[in-house]
Amino acid sequence: SLRIEGVSKTFESNGRQVEALRPVDLKIASGEFVCFLGPSGCGKSTLLSIIAGLESASSGTVFANDRAVSGPGTDRILLFQEAALFPWLDVQKNVEFGLRQAGIPARKRAEIAHKFIELVHLKGFERSYSHQLSGGMRQRAAIARALAIDPEVLLMDEPFGALDAFTRDRLHSELESIWSSTQKTILFVTHNVREAVALGDRVVVFAPRPGRIVRDFRIDLPRPRSLEDHNLVDKAA
Ligand code: ATP
Ligand code: MG
Repeated sequence: SLRIEGVSKTFESNGRQVEALRPVDLKIASGEFVCFLGPSGCGKSTLLSIIAGLESASSGTVFANDRAVSGPGTDRILLFQEAALFPWLDVQKNVEFGLRQAGIPARKRAEIAHKFIELVHLKGFERSYSHQLSGGMRQRAAIARALAIDPEVLLMDEPFGALDAFTRDRLHSELESIWSSTQKTILFVTHNVREAVALGDRVVVFAPRPGRIVRDFRIDLPRPRSLEDHNLVDKAA
C-alpha cells in the first residue's frame, strides 16, 4: 500500500519560488488502479517523481508498505511518456537488465524475460533494438522491463501520450489485462478524461496549478467500459 501524507512541493527557480503542489493526502491500497487526472502544470509528474523517490518533497512523507520512502527503489518503478530503452541492448537484454543487476542467473533471467515479453506481445522481437521498434512496441518493452523486476507499484506518467489513437486503445486493453493478471498497483497519470475514466478503478482529479486534489472517486463498472452508456465522461469533466 501507499500512503501520501501532506506531500507538497515548491521548486526554487532562478531565485523564485514555484509552488508546484499543495499538500496532498492519499491512501492507495495494494492492487488499485488509480488515474491522476489534471491539466498541464498541476503537479502530476512532480507527485509521481516524489512517490518514485526521484524527487524529494518540500513537506510531508510518502509511505510504501508503512515505510517512509527516502529514494528510488525496485518496489516502485516509474515509466515515462517516451519509453527509454537502452539503445545498445536488444529487447531481451533490456528486459533482463534489472534481473542481471539483481544477480539472477542467466537461465532464470531468460525464463522471466520470456514470460514478460510474451505478456506484452513482443514475441519474435527479442533481438530487435529500440530504433527498430515502433513507439508502441518500445512502450511495451519498457513495461516488460519494469514488470520483470516485480515492483509492487507501477508509476506511469502519460505512458501512451505520444502514441496514435489505435495503438493507445490496444495498449489500454493490454494494460488492463496485465493489471488483472499481475495484481500490481498502478498509478496512471493523464490529462485525458476519457483515458482516466476508461482505465481507473479510481480517478483522482487535480486542480490547475498549483495542484491540489479536488475530487477522488471510484468507478465500479466492468471492463472494458462503454463510456457513453454511463455518461461517465460528462460526470468526470
Ligand atoms: P504536464 O501535464 O504538462 O506534464 P504536470 O501536471 O506533470 O504537467 P509538473 O511537471 O509536475 O506538472 O509541474 C508542476 C509545476 O512545477 C509547473 O509549474 C512546473 O513548471 C514546475 N516544475 C516542475 N519541475 C520543476 C523543476 N525541476 N524546477 C522548477 N519548476 C518545476
Ligand atoms: Mg507531467
